[in-house]
Amino acid sequence: MLLPVCCAVCGSTGSALCPGCGSRLTAAPSPRVPSGLDSCAALFAYDEVGRRVVGALKFRNRRAALVRLGRAVAVLAPPDPLDVVTWAPTTTEHRRHRGYDQAELLARCVARQLDLPCLGLLRRGAGPTQTGRPAVERLHGPHFTCRPGVVGMRILLVDDVLTTGATLAAGGRALRSAGAVAVHGLTLAHTPLKVPARYADLGLQRRNSHSGMAHATDGTPGPTDPGRPA
Ligand SMILES: [Zn+2]
Repeated sequence: MLLPVCCAVCGSTGSALCPGCGSRLTAAPSPRVPSGLDSCAALFAYDEVGRRVVGALKFRNRRAALVRLGRAVAVLAPPDPLDVVTWAPTTTEHRRHRGYDQAELLARCVARQLDLPCLGLLRRGAGPTQTGRPAVERLHGPHFTCRPGVVGMRILLVDDVLTTGATLAAGGRALRSAGAVAVHGLTLAHTPLKVPARYADLGLQRRNSHSGMAHATDGTPGPTDPGRPA
C-alpha cells in the first residue's frame, strides 16, 4: 500500500513540500565562504519556516521532501568544473538513531541532478554534534579524515545547514590536505551568526555581494563590508 505523501512543514497531503510552505521559504543570505573553500552557496534562510523544513528532514523520515530540496539546491552548484560530490557526515550516533545521514541523502540527490558520482570521502571523528557544543568550540568544527584517492579532484561538499561554516571548513581542510585541488560548499539552509572579532578568522571569510553564492577572497576586511562582525 502506498502511503500518502505529506508536506514536511504543515503535514497537508499531496506533496513533500506543499506550494504554500515552499513559497514561505526565504532565500538564504549570501554566505561567508568558510576558510579553505573556493565558493559556498545555500538555498534558503534558516528562519522559522527553514528550521521546520530542516527539522522535519532531520527528525522525521521525510525523504520525499529531501529529494525535492536536493533538486532545488543542485541549481546553486558552482559553474566551475566538478569531479565528485561528497558530504559532511553526521555523527555515528545520529546516523544510527535516524537510520540514515540526511547530508548523504542530500548529496546523492545533488549528484544525480548534476550527473556526477557521489562518494563518501570524509570520516567523522568521535565527538558531540555541532549543535550540542558551545559556540566557541563550534567554531573549530568537527574532526574529519579523508579517504585516499582524491588527489587532483574538484569536489562539491554538501551539508544541510551552514551556521558558523566550521563544519564545511573542517571538511574542506581534510579534502585539501588529502590532495583535492578545489572544494566548493553547498547547503540547504544558512543562518548568519554574529561572531566575536577574535574568532572571525577561524572559519570565516568576508562575503561578496553575489546572491546566494559567495567566492573566496583574501579574507581582508574591507571598509565597505557591512556584513563583517565588528
Ligand atoms: Zn505545507
